[in-house]
Order: sequence, then structure tokens, then C-alpha cells
Amino acid sequence: MTPVFIVLNAGSSSLKFQIFDAQNAMDPCVIFKGLFEGLGSAARFLVRDGAGKTLDETSWASDEKLGQEGAVMHLVSWLRAHRNGRELVAVGHRVVHGGETFTGPVLVDESVLSSLDTLIPLAPLHQPHNLAPIRIVHRRLPSIPQVACFDTAFHRTQPDVATMFAIPKDMRDRGVRRYGFHGLSYEYIASRLADTDPRLASGRVIVAHLGNGASLCALNKGVSIATTMGFSALDGLPMGTRCGSIDAGAIFYMLREMKLTPAEAENILYTRSGLLGVSGLSNDMRTLRANAAEKADARRAIDLFVYRITREIGSLTAALGGLDALVFTGGIGENDVATRAEVIAALSWAGLTLDESANVAGERLISTRSDVTAWVIPTNEEVVIARQIRSVMGAATQLTA
Ligand code: ADP
Repeated sequence: MTPVFIVLNAGSSSLKFQIFDAQNAMDPCVIFKGLFEGLGSAARFLVRDGAGKTLDETSWASDEKLGQEGAVMHLVSWLRAHRNGRELVAVGHRVVHGGETFTGPVLVDESVLSSLDTLIPLAPLHQPHNLAPIRIVHRRLPSIPQVACFDTAFHRTQPDVATMFAIPKDMRDRGVRRYGFHGLSYEYIASRLADTDPRLASGRVIVAHLGNGASLCALNKGVSIATTMGFSALDGLPMGTRCGSIDAGAIFYMLREMKLTPAEAENILYTRSGLLGVSGLSNDMRTLRANAAEKADARRAIDLFVYRITREIGSLTAALGGLDALVFTGGIGENDVATRAEVIAALSWAGLTLDESANVAGERLISTRSDVTAWVIPTNEEVVIARQIRSVMGAATQLTA
């Protein structure tokens, strides 16, 4: 029997999954990965093997609502049909918010589920979707252990001062503080520093996770000491559709003078801002790059993105007391040669110098100087969840017993 884990990352209308061989002595090893899209209508299921070869594709009619429950149960049936000696032993979930309670991954039971429900107001747009499949598995497959893995937990090492807003203490006591997100991605990058260059593991590193969601994290000796996201995943850098840092006074103005409801303001700042809002064209960096020469607003959106990244890197460099290395990751960080070049050009004051041909060739080391270096490291949040399942459930020997 080969024990396997399912790792789930649930969104509002999608469910991404990876299935890991839990027995592998080193890291859990991915055997299948895929997603469900259109869970509300006309759902599509796609699954590939670990090498990326498509194994199965299924579509549902537009008048049929598959929903999270239909998707989870379809995946479990698919896995049973492709069993081949494999046995599902645990399910792990990406959960955006662990609040102050969950400082690491946790085995889910009724009381954990109740605690996770109380965190919904901290992340109302994401947390309910993350919790839905946990409840479904809990109800439909009660004998399967589940582990919740949090995007906030990696930042619990930050000094108190980095987590504070300058507001009255009773507000802080009620949870209004900086939490930070993208922690599963940063944990993965931190785990790769030593094999990338041993100096990174003991040095001052800023990781730029640049995807649809975007943030920066300052790592001192591999530990998070500051990050750009704060109370919510809205803070910090401009993102695909999110505004990033905005003066709280501007939001009061929108509510009071522009007569927006809180829900309308929230919708604008989460879904109609960022690269999409500034360009008026797209939230997708590839589209913006393709149009930047002719469309001034596409260029402005990119310029603002790069400007805000470099300003925040300055801030995090101050928090670290200097900079030894910059690491790019996420869809833009891993793929967009021009964004990496523009960010590094704006950071020459910090000693960064671009190795143009290495950058274009997609090499791992993309800087020329040896004292301050720049790197590209593809992230892998799912393997971090698989590792966390393993650590919560005990050693692999226990799983294979
Ligand atoms: P998410 O935060 O949803 O996981 P990703 O990390 O997949 O998002 O990043 C999506 C972003 O990555 C999009 O802006 C997309 O344009 C960008 N991206 C992906 N591939 C490329 C590429 N080859 N060149 C430039 N940008 C890319």
C-alpha cells in the first residue's frame, strides 16, 4: 500500500489539488495535480500526472452546479478508480487565516473547525471557501485525518513592533494587527535557501512573491521579520486586482462623500483595482507587457507596480539592517524577465546589478556581483502543505505501518 495525501486549495469557484506519494523518504512527491473550474456552472475537471501530461478531462453541463462537495467527491472517486495500490491517508488544506490562535499546521477536529469559523470575519472573501472542503471531508469521509495549513503562520516569528498598527490597545486586543500572508510560499523559499547558496540561509534576504496576489517578505536567517501584507491580503504591493496599501482616509472618503457601501468599496479595492484598475485593460502581466508600448495606461500600471516593489524593498532593507539577496518567485517573479530587470535596475543603490543574459535565459542566479545577489526560485506551496501534513501526522513510518 502506498499512502497518499490530497492537498486542496479552494477558491470561490475553483478547487486546485495535488496528490502526493507520502512515502518518499525525502520530500512528499507529487503524482497527480489538477483543478476544478466553474464550480457554480459548467464545471471542468482537469488532472495531469507529476510530469504535466494530461490524464483526464471532464466537463459538466452549464445547468448543473457541481459545487465544492461534488468536486471533492469526484476527486476522491477518481483517485479510487486510479488506485493502483494507493491509499488516501490524509487531506491537507490551504487556509488563508490562522489568526492569533494557529501558529502552525493543525490536525482538524470539531473544536478546530469552530475556531476556524470564528476567523471568517478576518478574511471574509477567502476563509469560507477554504473551510468548505474541510467540512465536506469531515462529514463525508470522517475517518480521513485532515490538516489545516495557514498562510499567516510563517509570520508568527515577527517582532511585536512589526505586527502593530498605531491604534488604541483595545483594538489590537480585538485582533486588529498585521498578520501577513503568502506564508506557505515563503516557507518553501526559506527551505530552499541553504541549497541555493549557504550564505542566504544565514543572511538577510527579501523574497518577492509576485503573482496575482503579490507581497514581499524580509527573511533574517530564514525567519520572517517583516512583510508587506498586513491585517488583510489587501495591503502592501498593488496586485492583479487589489489596490495594495491605501491611505485609510481615502476609504472614509469613498464611504462618506462618494456614498459607497462598505461592500461596494471592498469590491472595488479587491476586484477592480491594482494592475487592472490602473491599466483599465487587464490584471494579467503578459497582456500589459504586450500592450505597454501603445497603451499609456498599461505602461503606467507596470511602472506603479515596479515603483511600489522597489520602495517596499527599501523599507524591508531598513528593517533587515541591510540586504544580502533578493529572490523572485510567483507567476510574475518566475516568468517576467522585464519586471525582474526593472526592479533590479531601480535597486542599484543597494548593490544589485543585473546579469542580463542569465535573466533572459531564466537562470537561477541573475546578478553579477557576489556580495548582493538576485535569484529566481519557483515556489511550491503544495509541497509545504504535504510536508506539514507529514509533520502533524508523525513520521512516514507511522503512515506506512
Ligand atoms: P496566483 O497569485 O493566482 O497564484 P500566479 O502566481 O499564477 O498567480 O501569477 C499570475 C501572474 O503571473 C499573471 O499576472 C501572469 O500574467 C503572470 N505570468 C505568468 N506567466 C508569465 C510569463 N510567461 N510572463 C509574464 N508574466 C507571466
